Amino acid sequence: MSKVIAILGGGESGVGAALLAKKNGFGIFLSDRGEIKEKYKKVLLHSEIEFEEGKHTESKIINAELIIKSPGIPDHAPIIKRAKLLRIPVISEIEFAANFTKAKKICITGSNGKTTTTLLIYHVLKNAGIDVGLAGNVGKSMAWLLSERDYEVLVLEISSFQLDGMFDFKAEMAVLINITPDHLDRYDYDFEKYADSKFRIIQNQTCDDAFIFCDDDEVIKRKLKTKNCKAKRYPFTLSNTEFDEGAYFKTDKNNYEHSKLIININTEKMVLTLQEMALTGKHNTYNSMAATIVSRLFDIRKESIKQSLSDFQGVEHRLEFVASVRGIEFINDSKATNINSTWYALENANKPVIWIAGGQDKGNDYSTLLPLVAQKVKAIICLGIDNDKIMETFSPVCNMIYETRNMDIAVRTAYHLGQKGDSTLLSPACASFDLFDNYEDRGNQFKKAVINL
Ligand code: ADP
Repeated sequence: MSKVIAILGGGESGVGAALLAKKNGFGIFLSDRGEIKEKYKKVLLHSEIEFEEGKHTESKIINAELIIKSPGIPDHAPIIKRAKLLRIPVISEIEFAANFTKAKKICITGSNGKTTTTLLIYHVLKNAGIDVGLAGNVGKSMAWLLSERDYEVLVLEISSFQLDGMFDFKAEMAVLINITPDHLDRYDYDFEKYADSKFRIIQNQTCDDAFIFCDDDEVIKRKLKTKNCKAKRYPFTLSNTEFDEGAYFKTDKNNYEHSKLIININTEKMVLTLQEMALTGKHNTYNSMAATIVSRLFDIRKESIKQSLSDFQGVEHRLEFVASVRGIEFINDSKATNINSTWYALENANKPVIWIAGGQDKGNDYSTLLPLVAQKVKAIICLGIDNDKIMETFSPVCNMIYETRNMDIAVRTAYHLGQKGDSTLLSPACASFDLFDNYEDRGNQFKKAVINL
């Protein structure tokens, strides 16, 4: 009899894992304690994969030789605890999928900027004619993609939850953009545990592999000293520190906009200006540096890289310009679900800001935003069920703070408070699940409300 795999979770990664397992002759039982979406159920039925929803039938699950767990299921879920007690291996979908590809894997992780950097790398490689697939947290799951066909190169966005279930997986190229507090509720409110999870991206790397990381990130630098990193290192920085292999900044003291990025790979320099890049803001300069290092490691022509960096279309819900109404601009940054991403959104603002913030708190410490809010924010509109923490933190530096639980009202309030030349910024620093289905729903409701003004 073939090996039986239990798959927990019937979403993108679980169903992808089921399809790949089926293709490779495994017996499968998929179980979801919640409801499985109609589109996924159809696929399971069509592929004749046995599944259940609304419960976990323990006897069936613990019969499996291997469990593939969706990233959404925490380690302390009773069924996972039980499986671990019984010494049944519990792995993530990406760990499983890696057994079925010959591709060179470019793996992007970090607290913020994963999706943007992943899509940017994919865009540059694809335009250069490389046979490249895109998967992970963005688009299809890796397993789903591989159940269709293999690629020469895979660009994978990898979250810490996926990394927690990865053991033998090896990234030929690992990109670590930053590590700032997020998802601490899943790491016993212990930042070190979360940071260690991110560093799993370099486990199993050898001297033939590449580790691309932000040298301005103190947490990364500190942690790296304690890790056994065998890969070749390619740091990137916005400082003037010149790396023989890596990327750095040559600041023009008279005009920041004329500063240059130098990407130095294999002792060959590539020079980029900020104007040449479609993505703006310091955070995106980091993302572009990381993408350029990867592209140069693939020996892609400089002209081709420049073209792709300049025609890259931004990503929806990430500092997305929506419209200008009566001279007030509206920016949708709904994907800013933690403090650090909102920090960059506020840092990037060059107009007085009406800031729509709040939502489900993940253990936030808002104090790092205080100086920026004091300097740039004229009004705050709290959009969450519990807004006390935000109101308490910012009332000393902002005297216009409002509360609502409705997006239409939030947008109309911003519109009434705003004057020509102001910017209304939805950058919540919180998860969306208290009032919205997800961050996309929140961003879409924002855009709709703006259009309706
Ligand atoms: P992720 O996939 O890691 O959540 P996204 O690319 O979806 O990252 O961006 C999430 C949020 O973080 C957006 O608000 C975006 O503007 C912001 N952001 C993007 N890149 C960075 C970065 N390098 N550092 C900090 N914030 C960033």
